[in-house]
Amino acid sequence: MTYSLAIHGGAGTILKAKMTPEMETAYHAGLARALEAGEAVLREGGTAMDAVVAAVCALEDEPLFNAGRGAVFTSAGKQEMDAAVMDGKDRRAGSVAGVFGPKNPVRLARAVMERTEHVTLIGPNALELARQAGLPFGDEVYFFTQTRWDSLQETLEMRERGEVSDDPARRHGTVGAVARDATGNVAAATSTGGMTAKAPGRVGDTPMIGAGTFADNETCAVSATGHGEVFIRWNAAAEIAARMRHAGETLQTAAEHVVMQDLAKNDGSGGMIAVDRHGNITMPFNAQGMYRGMVRKGSAPETSIY
Ligand code: ASP
Repeated sequence: MTYSLAIHGGAGTILKAKMTPEMETAYHAGLARALEAGEAVLREGGTAMDAVVAAVCALEDEPLFNAGRGAVFTSAGKQEMDAAVMDGKDRRAGSVAGVFGPKNPVRLARAVMERTEHVTLIGPNALELARQAGLPFGDEVYFFTQTRWDSLQETLEMRERGEVSDDPARRHGTVGAVARDATGNVAAATSTGGMTAKAPGRVGDTPMIGAGTFADNETCAVSATGHGEVFIRWNAAAEIAARMRHAGETLQTAAEHVVMQDLAKNDGSGGMIAVDRHGNITMPFNAQGMYRGMVRKGSAPETSIY
């Protein structure tokens, strides 16, 4: 039986004009490591859920991406992370919002799914669950990256001057993975620091099931990145599955419609990765780029940026 895996490191890519060969190599290497972490699970006959969590943990550990270690800062200079997982087998899901502490917020999202009767947890109770689950914690030093801090200062200064940022890399980013395992189950996982200089307490699309993360064996698994508020209002990830289910569209047609029409026409810059129950992958985006990668059983992994 075949398996497939797709990952993204966010649509908030560095503008092509500002990308250096060294940076480009580093991004491709980070994506390749995450693909390998996820594919290793699938190669051994592991589940789609285990694979997407392994891939997202690798991206969270990588300071280049806006999730976990490389998370962006709020307007108050803090980091508040959102994450979610969903299992297509039974539509079980777990998510957390606004957390700081666990090195891998995606593992905490999974703990919510597996250890509680709820879908979403926030606040001290979410952190208590992380402790109970034995998840590793990081401190301010672990999570600090100079580039993210500098981006916050620049964004705040631009705000002061009444200017709008034209640089997606300064504004946002996210990481995510979708997989179809050898038994035909699909799963999705997404994790983010959100948007630079977001208001404290702001929650994006990532932990909202249906908006930034969705999975259902009947149709597909989806992980999104982009302007979260618009993805929430268009219920973007679940809309792809809905178009497949109700209109009989293919994964690719449905995903292209949502990203290129619904989102693009409504200020929803970004993209999505999706896999259907047959293992087909699509990765449409309406921004200048999206860090992404994919691998299928029997074929070599591929990573791309623009
Ligand atoms: N969707 C994320 C959020 O709004 C940000 C991003 O993917 O760029 O929190």
